[in-house]
Amino acid sequence: MLFQKTKKKLLMIATGGTIASKQTESGLAPAMTSEELLECVPEIAEFCSVETVQPFNLDSTDVYCPHWLKIAALIEENYRSYDGFVVTHGTDTMAYTAAALSYLVERSRKPVVLTGSQKSAYLRDTDARRNLYDAFRFCADDGAYGVRIVFDGNVILGTRARKTRTRSYNAFSSVDFPEVAVMRDGAPFYYLRGDKPHGSPAFLHVLNERVFVLKLTPGLDAGIFDYLEDKVDGLILETFGSGGLPAYREDACFLAVRRLAEAGKLVVITTQVEREGSALGAYAVGRRLLSCENVIEARCMTLEAAYVKLMAALADGRRGKAAEKYFRTPVEYDIF
Ligand code: ASP
Repeated sequence: MLFQKTKKKLLMIATGGTIASKQTESGLAPAMTSEELLECVPEIAEFCSVETVQPFNLDSTDVYCPHWLKIAALIEENYRSYDGFVVTHGTDTMAYTAAALSYLVERSRKPVVLTGSQKSAYLRDTDARRNLYDAFRFCADDGAYGVRIVFDGNVILGTRARKTRTRSYNAFSSVDFPEVAVMRDGAPFYYLRGDKPHGSPAFLHVLNERVFVLKLTPGLDAGIFDYLEDKVDGLILETFGSGGLPAYREDACFLAVRRLAEAGKLVVITTQVEREGSALGAYAVGRRLLSCENVIEARCMTLEAAYVKLMAALADGRRGKAAEKYFRTPVEYDIF
């Protein structure tokens, strides 16, 4: 008997980015419709059926919290009707959106795949066609689930991705974690399969935007922490090396950070070093932070994941120990 596998039904959520851009008088800007984009890769229709929706068409520089919530809402509304979701997106903030979707659509047994390109789909030497094809191919694979970025043949967890190149086709890296798969001859070759979740995902509907990231620079004036006090509920500090916070000027920075934490702000310590995370206990300039209440170490989390996770931890009025617990609980290998 001949079995014909039914084609997967996928929803493409087109949001803009270089992939959908055309040259305008003021520079490259998203201009293609989702249908036009799909028409660039007619082969996709051979293995899946695709419907499209275009909630906005933006350079991802302009994509932030309300857009993440919009994409997540579209996924939730359509979750039962499709086998998976492909989100086309600008590369500049794709890692933030991928991290956001990892917390907004948690434990999804269906794949949510983000892709984009370094060159417009219109250009002769574009990477758009390959990335789009691979993204749909991966999304249609039986082993795929959860939030992933598919780019330049690599499949990266939404919680571990970062844009590390502005021009080259291998624009994204999986930071401190292996790629979960690579695309070989149009099919995923898995390095890590993980356990596919069962049941419905946990959809989150709110994020707290009162989160700020501060990168330390040598000689930073501690006055900035006092300035931030009534403006944020959560602060991410990109410290030096393993987690160093300056002790100069009578320990003004440490005292100001401790004041913020005592005032109920959740302070997350990350490092500005690209890989291998923080180790706050190692140096005297970091260790004293470990004894402060409301101060958490992000260890090897990416900044993108830490930023959105802090927004999620502080959502719905959650504060203190409950927010800290949310932040420390691993989601898709984001913290360990
Ligand atoms: N500026 C573009 C964007 O992020 C860059 C890209 O898509 O590659 O929307």
